[in-house]
Amino acid sequence: MGSNLKTRLRRGMMRLMGRVMPSCKEISELVSASMDGNLPMRRRLSIRFHILMCSFCRRYEKQLLLLRIGTKHYAEPDENPVEASLSAAASERLKRALERKP
Ligand SMILES: [Zn+2]
Repeated sequence: MGSNLKTRLRRGMMRLMGRVMPSCKEISELVSASMDGNLPMRRRLSIRFHILMCSFCRRYEKQLLLLRIGTKHYAEPDENPVEASLSAAASERLKRALERKP
């Protein structure tokens, strides 16, 4: 396959994906709504597909998830999902490290 044909195929795929897939800007607006579970299945699938292909939106989704976990901790300090997932030994090590003076 010649490099010219490869380039034309790649550009064609990008154009097609641009029409079918939502843009990064749209994804950034939809990811939060998707986490709240307010979107129809078709929309959620298009977001998942975009995030599979796009490292920027993958990173954005991860950061948003971390923010949600963090804000949940401040809203409900007794239910900390991060602490709950740590083993007793890891939790103790973390506590000791935080108590150490710099
Ligand atoms: Zn993207």
